[in-house]
Order: sequence, then structure tokens, then C-alpha cells
Amino acid sequence: MNIAEWLAASARLVPAAPALLGGTKVEADYATFARRAAAIAANLAAQGLAPGDRVALFLFNSTDYLECLYGIWWAGAVAIPINAKLHAREAAWICSNAQAKLAFVDAETAPLLEAARADLPAGLPLITVGSAAYTALRQSLSSAPPVAREIDDLAWLFYTSGTTGRPKGVMLSNGNLLSASLCYLADVDEVHPADAALYAAPMSHGAGLYNFIHVRMGCRHVVPPSGGFDADEVLTLARELTSVSMFAAPTMVKRLVAAARSRGETGEGIKTVVYGGGPMYLEDIKEAMAVMGQRFVQIYGQGESPMTITALSRAHHADVDHPRHLDRLRSVGTAHSAVCVRITGTDGAVLPPDAVGEIEVKGPPVMLGYWNNPKATAETLVNGWLRTGDVGRLDADGFLTLSDRSKDVIISGGTNIYPREVEEVLLAHPSVAEVSVIGVPDPEWGENVVAYLVLAPGATLDIAALDAHCLANIARFKRPKSYVALAELPKNNYGKVLKTTLRELAARPG
Ligand code: AMP
Repeated sequence: MNIAEWLAASARLVPAAPALLGGTKVEADYATFARRAAAIAANLAAQGLAPGDRVALFLFNSTDYLECLYGIWWAGAVAIPINAKLHAREAAWICSNAQAKLAFVDAETAPLLEAARADLPAGLPLITVGSAAYTALRQSLSSAPPVAREIDDLAWLFYTSGTTGRPKGVMLSNGNLLSASLCYLADVDEVHPADAALYAAPMSHGAGLYNFIHVRMGCRHVVPPSGGFDADEVLTLARELTSVSMFAAPTMVKRLVAAARSRGETGEGIKTVVYGGGPMYLEDIKEAMAVMGQRFVQIYGQGESPMTITALSRAHHADVDHPRHLDRLRSVGTAHSAVCVRITGTDGAVLPPDAVGEIEVKGPPVMLGYWNNPKATAETLVNGWLRTGDVGRLDADGFLTLSDRSKDVIISGGTNIYPREVEEVLLAHPSVAEVSVIGVPDPEWGENVVAYLVLAPGATLDIAALDAHCLANIARFKRPKSYVALAELPKNNYGKVLKTTLRELAARPG
């Protein structure tokens, strides 16, 4: 089963239904959307792209994004959506690791990736969406159906930042995407043809994964004119579009709620805000419901089980009379229909209700493994169970509460930042002898990145120089917001840095 069959079916069933919209302007109906995807596929195949080949997308949100994705799948190839905010060298590394045969870029990212040519696979063709060449690519006529693919064939290679400094390619099959998408209907929300999926969060991530069920149901796919998240724009657009569903990180929810409150609105036109990707604080979701009403559903997932581990339904948000309502609001809900969730101890034994341990997941949405990384795959997938690296507890009713994140991942603005990656970059600077990076709580972003350093002998703390060094090597959003120089880093007997001590240090007043 090729996931592009869902687009082919909607093009047959509702050819004239509006499919792709820039703001409120319809850019393509379903017949046009599918025709363009088929044309892209035929042209890529004519250029030698074979089923199973990888194609990168390093571009900001646009309606072209969906055309490219479906063009890739229509050809039986594999999409690698790359966060457009990554540094071009990071994007180039991903293209090279995945042995990409081609990359779609946009006017903004094309010159950046060109400048990183040395790190790209030799001769990698870059196709710039919006260019004359791209328009020609999607305009030819092809009546070929999507290339036949098996349910376990790779469709989406999703690069997550790795704790070992380099990202890992999560291999998602057609079956993973299909089962995760059907879970949306079962556990997240109803979807109707009149609905509009609004892409205010990056399409390379969670928001993009929600395209499938909205393609299947023949809904509108709307990219805001700003191309990103602007709370006022979302509120204005939603009033005009009506029946809007969107994915939002908790930071975005907070801004949306603040904007609605200041406009004296309740989010009219917004049907559902699905939030997740980082912790939602109790006070924030209570405030969100007080201002905007019952428009919220929470999901907990990770690239390895895309958007599909648990969900806290709209009904559970609304169930204020339940004796454990607040506990449930603090939780991430109950297991999605297609997966089993369990908690294990350090010895691997399954723990009883309310005991804290590692969260494990099993079921059809769970990834095939990591691309070209059997070691990491064997460590993470054990007897079919995905070891999430997250720590939490299940109560007797099956509600999961996250207590901590192992692996020390920092989540800022809903985006994961792995300390090790930042540490490795800082260690490459001559003034830095030792470094440890942690996240400190921040009311707006969730967490901020803070770097604790031991300076090299004779060096002074030059924050501007360190910032410039980070900007040259990693994405802007990963660089530390502040730096603290210490005489030595706190360490245990094995010489491992004690991040808990650093967090205590950060929490101390003054
Ligand atoms: P990613 O693979 O980039 O989607 O990141 C997944 C990680 O984000 C998970 O392993 C969790 O640590 C965190 N996460 C996802 N959803 C939630 C949520 N609803 N609440 C708290 N943390 C979350």
C-alpha cells in the first residue's frame, strides 16, 4: 500500500474540492493536486529516480511542500523532510547520511544548501520550488497511478537529533503512517470534508504528519501567508476559513491564548488545537480552556512512534467533575488505539500502576528502525517494544504522566535540543576546555539552553565569540541563551558531569 493512494482516491472522489490554500486563496483542487503529484513523480522517474530512493525536502512551509511530498511518494520514493531552521551543514549531513538522490529547496534555503555543497552527496540535484524548472516539472501530463509499494516499505525518513551528537534517521513505513493516521480518527478527533488543516507549525514534523488523514477525508490544507506561526494571523484566518484544525507546540498554544484574550475572542473558527511535543503546564491548559473553551486535545508521541503514543481527549479536558480531573489534565492521556504502553524498571521488568520507569510502546505505528544504524536500532527496539527514553508512570485507569525525560533532552518552543550536540560544537572553540549544557525552565519557551563552561587556560569568557561560533555550526534555536564560567564542572566518581547539580545551581536565586 502506497500512502499516496489516499491522494489518488480523494482526487477520484472529490476532484473539485478545494485542496491546497495559501491563506484563504484556493491554489489547487484535489484533481489538480493529484495531477501535479503524478507529474512530479513521472519527471523524477524520467531523471532516474527509482522506488525506494530518498529525496530530501529542505524548505519552509508552503503548499508546494505537499505537492513535493506526494510527488515523491507517487514515484514510490522516500521523503526526508528536514527542519528548514537547521543549519545548512546539518541539512547537508542528513542528505549525505540518507544518500539522497535529489533535494527540494526553496528560494531561502537554496543558496544556503549550495554553500554547503562540499558536505552534500556529489552532484546532488537541487530543485527550487517556485522556479520555472519546478513549474515545468509539475505541469506535464501523467496518467500513471502511484507506484505500487508494500505496507512495510519505507516512506518517510524522519531525522531526530541524536544524543550522540548526530541525528538518527527514523524509518517510517507506509504502514506506520497509515496506522498513526487512523489513530487520529479513533483517539484525537473526528475529521470531516469541510475541515481545514492549518499548517502553522513546521511540516517537516508533527504538523506534516497530520496531512494524511486530512488528504484521505478530502479536507482543505491551508498554509498561512506568513508561512509560520503568527497568533493574530491564525485567529483572523480561522474566522474566515471555519472548522480549522491545527497542531501546536505548548509555546504556540500560550501565544494563541494570549492573543485571543487580548482580542476579546475565543478562537472562533478553530475546531481543534492538537498540542504536544513538549510539556504543557497545568496552569497553562486551564487558562487556555478558560479563554478558548473545549478546543484542545493533547498528544504524546515521538518520531519513533509518530504522534501516536497517548492522547488526552477533548472529553477528558472537559470532564471537570471527575474526582481526578486535575491529575488527568497533568497527564498526557491514555494509549492510542493501535499501541500498547507499559512502564519498565531498570532491570527491564514491567512495573505495576503508579510506579515510575521508562515508557515503552508497541504497535503498528512503531518505526521499522534507524536508518543504517543497527546498533541504535537494537538498543531502542527490544522484542518489538520501543524504548522511548522518556520516564513516567501509568495510573490504574491507564493515564500516563511524564515525570522526566531521560537523555536530558531540552525542549524549547516545542523543539527538541540535544545538549550533547551543542556541547560538541562549543568544545570545538579554542576558549572552551569543558562544557555541559542544560535546559532551565522558562515561562515562554518551556526551557532555555544554558551552557556551563570551564575555560581553557588563559582564555576569557567572550560570549559574542561563542555565539558567533554556534551560529556558524548549528541552528540558531539550539544556541545557548546564556553562559556561565565555572572553575570546574560538578562530577561523580566516574568523572561523569552531574547535570542535576547544574540544574540545582541554575535554580538558586541570584
Ligand atoms: P520528537 O521525536 O522530536 O517528536 O520528540 C519526542 C519527544 O518530545 C518525546 O520523547 C517527549 O520527550 C517529548 N514530548 C512529546 N510529546 C509530549 C507531550 N505531550 N508532553 C511532554 N513531552 C512530550
